[in-house]
Amino acid sequence: MNHFTEPQRFDSIDTQQIMHQARCQKDEPNIWFGEQRMLLLQLSSLANFRKEQILTLGLERAKGFFMRLGYNLGQRDAELVRNQFIDASPEELFRAGLELQTLKGSVRVEEILLETNIEKSHFFAQLEMHDSYEAEMQISELGLKTGPCCWALMGHISSLASALLGQEIIFKEKECRGCNHSACLFEGRPAKEWEDYASYRKYFNSTPIIEELYELQDQLSVLRDKITESDTLGNFLGQSEGFKTVCNLAKKASSGKVSVLLLGETGVGKELVAKGIHENSQRNDKPFVAVNCAAIPPELIESELFGVEKGAYTGATQSRAGRFERASKGTIFLDEVIELTPRAQATLLRVLQEEELERVGDSRTRKVDVRVIAATNESLLKAVDEGRFRADLYYRLNVYPINIPPLRERREDIPLLVSHFLKKYESFYNIKTLGLSELAMKTVLNYTWPGNVRELENIIERGLILAENGVTIDAQHLFPSFKLDKNSQVISSLGSLNNDQAPTNDVENHNLKESWLNEAITQVGSMEKIEESILKYAIEKAESNVSEAARMLGMSRPTFSYRLKKLNIEV
Ligand SMILES: [Zn+2]
Repeated sequence: MNHFTEPQRFDSIDTQQIMHQARCQKDEPNIWFGEQRMLLLQLSSLANFRKEQILTLGLERAKGFFMRLGYNLGQRDAELVRNQFIDASPEELFRAGLELQTLKGSVRVEEILLETNIEKSHFFAQLEMHDSYEAEMQISELGLKTGPCCWALMGHISSLASALLGQEIIFKEKECRGCNHSACLFEGRPAKEWEDYASYRKYFNSTPIIEELYELQDQLSVLRDKITESDTLGNFLGQSEGFKTVCNLAKKASSGKVSVLLLGETGVGKELVAKGIHENSQRNDKPFVAVNCAAIPPELIESELFGVEKGAYTGATQSRAGRFERASKGTIFLDEVIELTPRAQATLLRVLQEEELERVGDSRTRKVDVRVIAATNESLLKAVDEGRFRADLYYRLNVYPINIPPLRERREDIPLLVSHFLKKYESFYNIKTLGLSELAMKTVLNYTWPGNVRELENIIERGLILAENGVTIDAQHLFPSFKLDKNSQVISSLGSLNNDQAPTNDVENHNLKESWLNEAITQVGSMEKIEESILKYAIEKAESNVSEAARMLGMSRPTFSYRLKKLNIEV
């Protein structure tokens, strides 16, 4: 085969006759070819259209689309030449059809080989195509690598040959200018001689995408229903039995207005459950207001929750609605409700019983319709015993308690949570990792998680930042302060650090303690200064949550507050 010979001319019929079929009249806007109206359009626009087809429908669908377009064009061209050269042989007609391609500007065809024997149903052709318009489009599609790309030409020549030679013929593109070959090479055979005939033929059948979309939509809504029926509650995630129990209780509470009391350690996801209850309720289009009672100074808690009238106290320069009024018709979430002052407890009780309140310094009674969800990580009953919490309010709040288990009691949920937080922070920090290493996952699964889900989230976020883009997050990224021995399990199944991990023995322990004390005395100085540093450190670690900081140091909140005041530390 010589790719560089001049294209052969068909001498048996006067192809120039075809040219005479094209008419473009001065007074008429239409272009005609024989009896068919034609259209002259810009190739670059067609290239844009083709690119959009590939990007929106996918390669296979776009390919089928253009092959069918070509197939249809080939049938029309077969009709044109048949009408023009009534006495010509099928072979001559086919050649005339190829010439027509050149005249229409789509491609210049060079015949390498053409064998036909209609009686024996034999057909074999090799055609070299120069200046294919489709190859040119592919090259201008920049970066879209689609393999041999002269789809419409393939369809066109296949249908031209099939229509003129009386049997189904399929052409395939063996080499393509669009893939950096010097020209496009087409090979044609009777359809049944191609082994992959069946899969190839599917391109010629249009399968309406709309039906596929409707079907997918149906599947999606079935799956969605399944998800809603099953155990999910907003962003509170899991699959363990403990998780499912919480979901069921929360969903049952959603339908009514019952006050809910969420119990559980710090960081178990009480606010997520509260939000889930709100979102599942009929109040979901109204506000959800979350208040951490421990984060508001006791002297301000009443005005913050129930509002204040101008002049009620020094500094109350204008009237202001409280959080309850702002949550009107919605839900209020009172976290660490145990921190409410006695007066605030009394007002809350009245809101729950009478659905009304008065702003601080106001005599006007206002109606409020708010669902109350309270939460605590301390025993309210104990607080009642100690006289810190009103018994009547406790009973009012405890109508519908939901106990949220700590993370160590629902370890099955850890992998799910890990992948959720990874996804969240990967997109937040625009980092893509390969997930957790096996050792890291083992460590995460065995750790006790005193800070529960919140701690897990923080550790995943930190690990992601420490790991580089595209790498696996290993245990050292998650727990940088741990001395990790890659050959052994880092944390025992009970969640404690193994003895041969972390500070490795008593001597080291002792040294560590001594150096720490030494540093405290030499660097910080007086007892008062040391205390101040410790209190501040606890506040920082508890993210300004005073109750939490007090707990860390084994103190009651009043004791802790007293020490803060004594040392003039502001939170
Ligand atoms: Zn090509």
